[in-house]
Amino acid sequence: MDFFNAIGDAITSAASELGEKTKEMTDSAKLQFEMKAKEDLKKEAFIEIGRKFYEGNKDAIPEDMVDLFNKVDEADARINAIKEELSNIKGETVCPKCEARVAVGATFCPKCGTKLDDIYEEEQ
Ligand SMILES: [Zn+2]
Repeated sequence: MDFFNAIGDAITSAASELGEKTKEMTDSAKLQFEMKAKEDLKKEAFIEIGRKFYEGNKDAIPEDMVDLFNKVDEADARINAIKEELSNIKGETVCPKCEARVAVGATFCPKCGTKLDDIYEEEQ
């Protein structure tokens, strides 16, 4: 009888420990999840602050920020060059008035309606 009681107690104690461990793990996972969400939120806010700061200081770049501003400008220049290259690959060009992507040879811009014929003839 004592033997079975002892086993019973051991099982109860093990189950209770396991329950506590599981609860600890769940609590810690919840906290980590919440922390990650807050970190993401913070990162987004910093990006937004950076974007606003960049927009507001383009014309008078603080001395200690010149390198960072240049990085943005260089990336922008390259992004625009890549967009242009992709347009050429896809057989598109850019409307000179509204900058919409337009199929090469189109007569009018589908977005703003600008007549495009003359512009292409001048380019060729
Ligand atoms: Zn257009």
